[in-house]
Amino acid sequence: MGSHAVSPARKQHVVCVPYPAQGHINPMMKVAKLLHAKGFYVTFVNTIYNHKRLLRSRGSNALDGLPSFQFESIPDGLPETDVDVTQDIPSLCESTVKHSLAPFKELLRRINAQDEVPPVSCIVSDGCMSFTLDAAEELGVPEVLFWTTSACGFLAYLHFHRFVEKGLSPLKDESYLTTEHLDTTIDWIPSMSNLKLKDIPSFIRTTNPDDIMLNFLIRETDRAKRASAIILNTFDDLEHDVIQSMQSIVSPVYSIGPLHLQVKQENSEDSELGRMGSNLWKEETECMDWLDTKAPNSVVYVNFGSITVMTAKQLVEFAWGLAATGKEFLWVIRPDLVAGEVSMVPPEFLTETADRKMLASWCPQEKVLAHPAIGGFLTHCGWNSTLESLCGGVPMVCWPFFAEQQTNCKFCCDEWEIGVEIGGDVRREEVEAVVRELMDGEKGKKMRERAEEWRSLAQKATECKRGSSVVNFDKVVKVLLGE
Ligand code: UDP
Repeated sequence: MGSHAVSPARKQHVVCVPYPAQGHINPMMKVAKLLHAKGFYVTFVNTIYNHKRLLRSRGSNALDGLPSFQFESIPDGLPETDVDVTQDIPSLCESTVKHSLAPFKELLRRINAQDEVPPVSCIVSDGCMSFTLDAAEELGVPEVLFWTTSACGFLAYLHFHRFVEKGLSPLKDESYLTTEHLDTTIDWIPSMSNLKLKDIPSFIRTTNPDDIMLNFLIRETDRAKRASAIILNTFDDLEHDVIQSMQSIVSPVYSIGPLHLQVKQENSEDSELGRMGSNLWKEETECMDWLDTKAPNSVVYVNFGSITVMTAKQLVEFAWGLAATGKEFLWVIRPDLVAGEVSMVPPEFLTETADRKMLASWCPQEKVLAHPAIGGFLTHCGWNSTLESLCGGVPMVCWPFFAEQQTNCKFCCDEWEIGVEIGGDVRREEVEAVVRELMDGEKGKKMRERAEEWRSLAQKATECKRGSSVVNFDKVVKVLLGE
């Protein structure tokens, strides 16, 4: 336990509410574990849909909780289904804003009516679930908002309203989606230089004034000003200037990441809490044994996260590009990776690469990226994936899909120098050339060295007691305690 542990006599009760997508539930679970280690009673609130999915993927007793860590669920307002799919993000955003506040308030009332648990004393909610602020204010308890994006992505979202004011969004018509227009310089976001319109989170590039995501993000970033504090899964050395710059818009902002390194300090995998996972898909762990047989830095890891979809043609181009590299690779293909179709790679590709590949539909990614055999990561640049790669000292080929992944890609390539981008249309020749460069080329070597440097800075940030993220986490605890 750290220096600001809660004494059992006045046990505080934190309610943690993640946005209902994998890349948000994972880091929120880590915040919950860290708060539990500080002595908080924790209630972790999933949506009913995800609660059921977690029971299916992790087993029927996975959400039984511990004496001072319980799981609850509230509806997301979407039609019920038992099929394990990636839910549509705009629909989820629209629906939770409309439908989740009343059941959330009801849940808080129910918890506070119980004698055996301490009354709710604070809330940590995802920044995209800001309806929870209304409940916190009604209850008179502090609420910390967790933006699970990079700081650079969050800062761009904080300026979305200015793109609208300047007439840069929505775009007048589809013709503005041309390369020329997307190269428009954006030089008026303090602390972010050399940006182009294409580097701003994707939701800005809409032609629809009523676009759900554009309006949702303007609303949520504005409401973020009401939070007692904002927390980000990043660390000061990585995004110092960007974090400073946002303090004049929302404050205080604390960087408390990389969370998976901080959690490791607190929970061993042998403990019940340490084993408590949050994967919505069933993990296939065979790949870890396979990696154990491989030489250091020899394997290409390919994974596009939980939401990215691609066309069947793009999948085929990736497949033949990878095959042509002659490298060994671990490729995770989610069953719903190809939009509207079953994700199928060509049978000839399977035969041709039989002795040097491993395919899976979901893997324990944090462990994979920490494995010495992994030499490069072909990724969509989701923020968790980016951080996990950086902490594994693994350089990246970036194929950003949506949201702030474009901004992460820009920072990976130009600021942190750990990534190289490939074109959105995916050509096998380009995949082959870029992956070869990543694994064997001079540029790849430089990026690997940079990633190693970031890895050691990330470790320093999460070092017991003195690390910047550890010190910041203690400050967050104080906010939650109302001190
Ligand atoms: N993940 C995993 N196994 C997989 C794919 C993803 O455990 O096969 C985890 C990954 O470690 C990360 C999260 O799912 O924590 C994905 O989040 P990210 O922000 O990278 O991307 P998103 O899924 O939100 O696009």
